[in-house]
Parts: sequence; structure tokens; C-alpha cells
Amino acid sequence: MPCGRTNTRADKGRWRVSSNESLANLLKEERRFTPPETLAASANVTAQAYEQAAADRLGFWAEQARRLSWATEPQQTLDWLNAPFAKWFADGELNVAYNCVDRHVEAGLGDRVALHFEGEPGDTRTVTYAELKDEVSRAANALTELGVRAGDRVAVYLPMIPEAVIAMLACARIGAPHSVVFGGFSADAVASRIQDADAKIVITADGGWRRGKPSALKPAIDEAVASCPQVEHVLVVRRTGQDVAWDESHDVWWHEVTERQSTEHEPQAFNAEHPLFILYTSGTTGKPKGILHTSGGYLTQAAFTHHAVFDLKPETDVYWCTADIGWVTGHSYIVYGPLANGATQVLYEGTPDTPHQGRFWEIVQKYGVSILYTAPTAIRTFMKWGDEIPAKFDLSSLRVLGSVGEPINPEAWMWYRRNIGGDRCPIVDTWWQTETGAMMISPLPGVTATKPGSAQTPLPGIAATVVDDEGREVPDGAGGYLVLTEPWPSMLRTIWGDDQRYVDTYWSRFQGRYFAGDGAKKDDDGDIWLLGRVDDVMLVSGHNISTTEVESALVSHPKVAEAAVVGAADATTGQAIVAFVILRGSAQDSDELTAELRDHVAKALGPIAKPKRVLTVAELPKTRSGKIMRRLLRDVAENRELGDVTTLTDSTVMDLIQTKLPTAS
Ligand code: ATP
Ligand code: MG
Repeated sequence: MPCGRTNTRADKGRWRVSSNESLANLLKEERRFTPPETLAASANVTAQAYEQAAADRLGFWAEQARRLSWATEPQQTLDWLNAPFAKWFADGELNVAYNCVDRHVEAGLGDRVALHFEGEPGDTRTVTYAELKDEVSRAANALTELGVRAGDRVAVYLPMIPEAVIAMLACARIGAPHSVVFGGFSADAVASRIQDADAKIVITADGGWRRGKPSALKPAIDEAVASCPQVEHVLVVRRTGQDVAWDESHDVWWHEVTERQSTEHEPQAFNAEHPLFILYTSGTTGKPKGILHTSGGYLTQAAFTHHAVFDLKPETDVYWCTADIGWVTGHSYIVYGPLANGATQVLYEGTPDTPHQGRFWEIVQKYGVSILYTAPTAIRTFMKWGDEIPAKFDLSSLRVLGSVGEPINPEAWMWYRRNIGGDRCPIVDTWWQTETGAMMISPLPGVTATKPGSAQTPLPGIAATVVDDEGREVPDGAGGYLVLTEPWPSMLRTIWGDDQRYVDTYWSRFQGRYFAGDGAKKDDDGDIWLLGRVDDVMLVSGHNISTTEVESALVSHPKVAEAAVVGAADATTGQAIVAFVILRGSAQDSDELTAELRDHVAKALGPIAKPKRVLTVAELPKTRSGKIMRRLLRDVAENRELGDVTTLTDSTVMDLIQTKLPTAS
């Protein structure tokens, strides 16, 4: 008999199962894709890196740290004496902004384009590294004039415009940790983050362009700042030109204060462990946590992984990461990693369907994008819109495709490979978290024979495995909990202001190892597959079943674009699987189809995984970073009041879904 599980939810930072069941390993995947020969022949990183890092992990990271320009070269690598509080390169000193900007200009690359900015209305701006250096210096001088000093926190609430990158780098340059808050968040959500970080200055804009219209940002800041007396100034970038309320006592126009500044600013070197930023997690599983990252180790791993996993050739590649700067992906793979590597990248302000559903592909064609990094949620949306849309554009410039944010269903992976990658580009499915700061588990495009839906291998220098309830490593072919077994340079240093929560959340479940909160399995080759949050794992008749596997089975049906499944309390089986599906383009909902989908899952994964109910819906509840919030679906399926919805994109989605479940539970 199943013993049931006690789930105290992420807020308390602990998850316990009182059953000895490991996650069932239901999905089998036989497809393999070897790296293109030309890519493999000139890859930045080869199989030898794994051997080198395995032989001397710390030596490997010490070598990667030399990608950066240090004012004082570090002699130490890892200081783990006060575990789990890590110090990396602790006796080194550097300036992060200098590494991302000035050193490229000093190397004669000032004319290289850093940012190809594409506004949603179609306005464009090209920013070279030399121009970026001037702008960052001006902004650093402006912040200094406004009284910001090293160590002061600066909140950033901006649309995806060059000023967002400039503001972050200006903060880094003067050693003032930034706390970027996603521009879609409400006044309350911003206020709580400003308060938690105790920010002295807020940088915002009048608004940004969203779905063809100016979308105001400043009113949320006006409201938030009313409850944040410590905020001394609000710096406002003019983007849309819309009317804004103005409070002379603290509002300052960005252009007014920056234009009068010098383009010279001497970057000061800070200790490698100087705080670089605080960033709140997406809030998929509960209340967001303020994750603290520091300078030297973070930049080392962001730069190394961006170089290795995307095989970046800065002279020729055009890189595009579609994430928002408000998420960790935007921090590590728009700002710090790519710029430290001197990359040329696209920065796009708007949505993928404005003014038409081919906007992304038009941008790829226009700028000759060669490396694209996006999320499964976007890929599934493109699948829903139809193959004919990307087919209208020339995507032949692409050579490497990346995915991040959620497990990618094998069929979504195949769709991405075929319809975007022209069956030629390797896909790197990168597993990591706000907490890890940079990529941790991912194929390498010139080395790994990829498998649709699997992140596969810890990167060189990273130690990860899958363990059971007791913390024993599971054998190949079995599932359990993903853990990281050694510290890594870009690891979080703590939860801002709450060291105890840091220890409890990540380091207490398994002694001496980092508990990621994700379920995973090792396949017969020992490759890692992510199986969703442990909070979401379902327990059906004594078997722990992964939401990801059931969802992937549903998405493998030709009529399904997207699926979310939850385990709802059930008198006979403990939990019963309830599936919510979005159909592809022209498919129609019917009883026959839902019966067919239930059977389809049973056939793919076995009868134990057959959903008790399948409900078709038009939308799924998602966080603003596009992740499915299963906990809300579980609340609905169990007739409970909805939990924290502050990070939900659109709360009307839940009303619609609730009407679908008249006799829930
Ligand atoms: P919170 O911790 O507040 O609930 P969150 O976990 O969604 O929010 P992030 O740090 O943005 O916040 O997301 C990290 C999580 O995203 C991972 O723990 C994992 O669940 C999921 N994830 C990211 N990349 C992948 C991937 N390639 N494969 C599978 N899951 C992924
Ligand atoms: Mg998380």
C-alpha cells in the first residue's frame, strides 16, 4: 500500500516522502542525433574537457576563471570551510562590467555590435561595444551622482530595451547589487521585492511596447514606492513617450541625468565575492526566494557555459536569447555570459505574435541569427500555431538551438529540430536554476549524441546525480531526486537576508548535497532526464509518477500541443491523474478524443499512468516566465482555494479552467 506523502510545500523549503518508492521510469526514447561533423571538428569544447575536469575539478575551474580579466589574479579556487557557504576565487579582484565591456574595446573590438535592438513597433538601434562602454560609464556616473555607493541595492523594472542592459552593467561597475524585477509584475509584487532587498534607487521606464500598445510601467512603481520610504530616487527611461505622473521629490529622467555625464568612468576592482545581484525565483512552487549571486565565480561559469554549450564564435555568430532580462536566463545569457564573451546579440522587446505569429522567424532571418536560446513554452506555442509559419522564413543561418525553463517534451524537441533547426542544428536542453546561476546539465553541441527530451550530462566541472529517499545514488534506469554533489562557481551564496532558509531549503534534505527540488531519472546509459518538480510528482496506487512523462506522452499525440497533469486526491488510488490539454490548430474537443488521449497515454507509458480525466482547455496557468503552475491546477482539481497567484500571468485563465471541472475531486 502507498504510504502517502506529506508535502509541506516549498515555502517551508522541505519535501518529504514517507514511501520508499522511487520515481517510476516509464518513458523510453530510442532516437539519437549525433553532432554535425563540421561543428564537431571545430567545436570550442571537446570530450577532453570532461576528462580534464574529472581529473582535477578545481584546477579546471581555476583555468576557466582565466577567461576573465582580473585586477588581482586569484590564487585560491574554492573555500568550502564554512559549507554550505561557499567562496570562489576569494582572494581575486575584478570589475564585472569591465569584463563585459571595456576589455573588448581595449582589445580593438569597439566597433563590434554588442546589441542589435529590435523594438516591438519595429524601431531598431545598434549598440557597438564602444557605445556600450560610453553608455555604461555615463550611467555609472549618474548613479554615483545620485548617491549610490558600492553595496547599495538598486531595483530595476524595465522593458527589454538597451537601457536594461546598461543599467545592470552600470550597477555592476560601481559594485551596487541590482535586483531586477520582471516588468510584468504588479505593484505589490514589486514593492515586496524592493522592500526585501531594501533598494535605495529604482530604475524604470514610462512603459514598454507590448502586443502593439504602450504598456505602462511607471504607475506600478509609483504605487510600490509609496510603501517603500527608503527609495530615494526613481530614474525613468523614456521609451513609449506616454504620460506619466511625476513626483519632483524623487523622480528623475534617465536621459537628463545621463546625458550630462562623462563617458569616462574608472572601473574599480571588487573582491570576487562582492555581491553582484539579488534575483527572486519564478515562484512556480510558492513564494519567491531572493537568490544572492556574487561576482567572480558567477561570471566565470556564465562565460564558460555560454562559450561551451553554444559553441559561441564571437567573430561570426549572431546570438539571440528570447528570455526576459527579469529572469535568471536574461541575467546569465543576455547580459553577463554573452557580453563577457564579446558576443553580438539580438535584444527583442516584444511578444512573439506581434504584429504576426512569424515575428521570431522574421528576426532570425533579418539578423542572420545563428544561435537561438528559447523556452519549451514558446516552442509548444509555435507548434500550436502551425508548421507553415516558420516555413515562410529563411532560417538557414541557425546552427545551434537551446532550450531552458522546463523539461522539453520529446515531441516538442523534435518539432524544434525539424521546423526551426532544419534537421541539422543540435539542440542543447540546458537544465539549471536561478540558484545555480548558470547551466549545469546540458549536452555539448560538438560532443554529445543528443536524445529528444533529455538534458543528459553534467557539464565539465559539474557533479550531479540522482538519489533515492535515503540519499543513495539510484542505478541506471531508475528515478529519484536530482542532487548536486559538489559546489560550483556560480552557485547561490545564500537567500538574501535568510541564511537559515538557504541551509534548510537546499542543504538539509540530503546531507552535504544540494537538493534541487526536481525529480529526475537516469536512463540505461546513465543520462539524466528531468521529470518535473518533486512537489508535482504524483503518487498513484503506490507508484511515484512524473508529471513530465505523462505530459510528454500526451504531447506525442498529433492533436495535442501542450499538456499539464496533476495528481488529485482519490479515494481508491491515493491520487488520480487529471490532465489538462491544449489542442493543436484545428483539432476539436470531443468525448472520443479524450478517451483516445487516455488510451494513448496508457499505451505509451503503461496502464498505471492512464489519466482518470482529460480536460481540454484554451490556456494553462503559467508564471510570467512561462512555466506551468501545476499547484494551481491541483488546487482546482481538489476543490481548494487557489494558493499564491501573484506570479501568474493571467488570473482569468483559472476562472475558465474552474468551469471545466464542475464535479472535481
Ligand atoms: P520557484 O523556485 O520560485 O518555484 P522556479 O523554480 O520556476 O521558481 P527558476 O529558477 O526560474 O524558478 O526555474 C528553475 C527550474 O526550472 C528548475 O528547478 C526546473 O524545475 C526547471 N527547469 C529549468 N530548465 C530546465 C530543463 N532544461 N529541463 C527541465 N526543467 C528545467
Ligand atoms: Mg525553483
